Amino acid sequence: VRADVLIVGGGIVGTAAAWHLARGGADVVLVEAGSVACRASGANAGSLHVQIPYSDYAEHGRAWAEAYAPALGFAKAAVLVWRELGAALDTDLEVEIGGGLCVAETPEQLRALRDKAAIEARHGVETEMLGSAEVRSLAPFLSDRVIGGAFCAAEGRANPLLASGALAGAARRAGARLLLGTRVEAIADAPEGFRVRTGAGEIAARRVLNAAGAEAGRVAAMLGVALAVEAAPIMVSVTEPVAPFLPFLLYSAAGRLTLKQMANGNMVIGGGWPARLGADGSLGLRPVSIAANMAAAVAAVPALGAARLLRAWPGLVNGTPDWRPVIGEMPGRPGAFIAMVPWVGFTGGPAAGLAVAEMILGRPPSVDLAGVVVPGA
Ligand SMILES: Cc1cc2nc3c(=O)[nH]c(=O)nc-3n(C[C@H](O)[C@H](O)[C@H](O)COP(=O)(O)OP(=O)(O)OC[C@H]3O[C@@H](n4cnc5c(N)ncnc54)[C@H](O)[C@@H]3O)c2cc1C
Repeated sequence: VRADVLIVGGGIVGTAAAWHLARGGADVVLVEAGSVACRASGANAGSLHVQIPYSDYAEHGRAWAEAYAPALGFAKAAVLVWRELGAALDTDLEVEIGGGLCVAETPEQLRALRDKAAIEARHGVETEMLGSAEVRSLAPFLSDRVIGGAFCAAEGRANPLLASGALAGAARRAGARLLLGTRVEAIADAPEGFRVRTGAGEIAARRVLNAAGAEAGRVAAMLGVALAVEAAPIMVSVTEPVAPFLPFLLYSAAGRLTLKQMANGNMVIGGGWPARLGADGSLGLRPVSIAANMAAAVAAVPALGAARLLRAWPGLVNGTPDWRPVIGEMPGRPGAFIAMVPWVGFTGGPAAGLAVAEMILGRPPSVDLAGVVVPGA
């Protein structure tokens, strides 16, 4: 098998890149160890994040947030990519940009939200501070304990069960070949570019793209590049459908929480609570995390206490300490590209796939890459 570009990974990043590359005229082979979106891209909570997450701001502090903030331009651009994606793929991806509200229960939390909003504003993201009355008129269903909040209009949600599959279908129709159930085992230099050993034989490729998500560090090592990627086990839960009441993404400064209502009424409850990762790599749920996550949800929206939980599931999220997207050609490794968006890679996936495809095709990137890092640079 020969290819112009070989993509490792069929999550949201790899499938988006495959689509853009194939429609740009490149001969693309995407190699995926499992099935499309079998890892984080099919297990995430579907939030389209732009603002700096409160819990990480509180945990890591202002200096960390200032260092991450240049990447907010990419996050904003990423949501704009989502806005257009369904129409371009001719598929309803249930994209809704209704904004994101982070509520506070104490004056300290409100002050921290204001400080965070000031950093966001300096990087072009508008977050409006709301008092108790304003918050309640926007969201009458909130707990009496809420004293205010911060609203970022740029945020929203999409359906992770639809997006990567639609991208993979479009990539195929544009001529990309998808080798599913096939693992990339080693990558060697070759005169024509790279020789890639897979479970289904060898593939010669002029360029390779590492879109391996939580395993991007392993694939980078195959290319001799050091890239520390954390694979953190976290969980999400979903309730049975309830009558529509929540048209935006809800966070709480009082406890790790993301809450949203999907198009069919299901309430998706997340926030990055830890799951269990066994020594053999198997994932499991932690009942204490489910309990704490539900408590945070019901503390913000008391009526949720009456909703019936349908299921909860774990997943491995790709993370790095500085949170900045990693996109580009790796220095010293011409022809070897990477695209990885830590922690919020569902939001950034379509934009990362687009930007890296444009780089590979030799076109100027059409999304803001000011806050992006390149490994080894
Ligand atoms: C529980 C959970 C909730 C989340 N919630 C959100 C959210 O609400 N909003 C948000 O923006 N982000 C969220 N995230 C993060 C987001 O899901 C990920 O950052 C994003 O999906 C990563 O996409 P990816 O394509 O880079 O990686 P992945 O989806 O992990 O895809 C990488 C693929 O590469 C394949 N692969 C790896 N190594 C090889 C190899 N050697 N050979 C062949 N194939 C290989 C894997 O099988 C995998 O399918 C969440 C993550 C989790 C786990």
